[in-house]
Amino acid sequence: MATDFDSWIMQPAVPGVEQSPVFGIFALLMKVDVRKLTFAELQDWFATRRHPAFRSKQVHEWLWKKSATSFADMSNLSIALRNELSEAFEIKAITVAEWQKSSDRTIKTAFKLCDGPVVEGVLIPTTSRMTACISSQAGCSLTCKFCATGKLKLLRNLDAAEIYDQVAIIRKQSETQYGIPLSNIVYMGMGEPLLNYKNVLESVQKITSPDGLGMSPQRITVSTAGIGKMIRKLGDDEVKFNLALSLHAANDEKRSQIMPINESNNLDEMAASLRYFYDKTGTRPTLEYIIFKDFNDSLEDAAQLERFVRRVPSKVNIIEYNPTGDGLFERATETQLDLFSNYLEKKGVIVNIRKSRGRDIDAACGQLANKNKAAHHALKES
Ligand code: SF4
Repeated sequence: MATDFDSWIMQPAVPGVEQSPVFGIFALLMKVDVRKLTFAELQDWFATRRHPAFRSKQVHEWLWKKSATSFADMSNLSIALRNELSEAFEIKAITVAEWQKSSDRTIKTAFKLCDGPVVEGVLIPTTSRMTACISSQAGCSLTCKFCATGKLKLLRNLDAAEIYDQVAIIRKQSETQYGIPLSNIVYMGMGEPLLNYKNVLESVQKITSPDGLGMSPQRITVSTAGIGKMIRKLGDDEVKFNLALSLHAANDEKRSQIMPINESNNLDEMAASLRYFYDKTGTRPTLEYIIFKDFNDSLEDAAQLERFVRRVPSKVNIIEYNPTGDGLFERATETQLDLFSNYLEKKGVIVNIRKSRGRDIDAACGQLANKNKAAHHALKES
């Protein structure tokens, strides 16, 4: 005869997912992260406990729209229900370990994940927009030579909620520090987003959903070092957000020197996959081009870039380099930057120049490398 205890341990921790008694006992010790449940699963959980259906909606709203990090915050639920929820679940939210403000108002934040790793996110205020630059992985498996993150080994992928939390926190910083709402999000922090495809797309879905932060997908840009297969998948999935390719050289030999990924995903593959993405989505990708002194800043380099642009409807962002302290590359001179961009503009290429921001706090493009104290503590603890 089944006792109450037997039926309790046989109950699926996640509604709809059958489990063995052994797993049931394990579930007694391990709480499920409530944000891993879909809304339908949350509804099931409430239904099996005979709570009114609207309770699941309230909890879902607290979790995603109001970014609650504790059941105790859910003030429109009874204390008994809040206790019931915290006995069954936990909320594995990221926390702010430390943050720094640059002299140009850029804010860099070190986020601590619940199991220890630290990732970084940046709020970049300009006159026209407030942009959150967020991380998708703790560390990175690619080894782009100009990038400080590329020197850290990959610890793990971030889950959708951890990516979402960075946006929610930076969004609050934008409002509390500057009184201006967050307007744009770029997946250009630590990690290669397309190597964490499922979680990145799920995070975009939560950020753009009216049940989440309700931001427009047109304000979101996912940036990749260039994985052709996954760029095509974005096309097949007909995503609504923008795509940026870290190009940095329109010549295979040079690109392979600074981005080893180019050996398996060369410029022909990039042009073909970006074209595929454009044909499927109608969205022009952006080509990011960090300009390095005496490496890719000549007029011959500009001509090669122009020829690449002709193969894919796209626009070009030229980014000033921020030295990472290893002496490998130097920043191109202002004169060379002007010559380079003028050449492209004269050829009809759409060019934007991205000035470096947050250099004094190592928050600029390519500088995110966990130089903060929080990361050092986390490394010591692990
Ligand atoms: S540039 Fe991006 S993909 Fe390349 S090493 Fe840095 S974080 Fe990884």
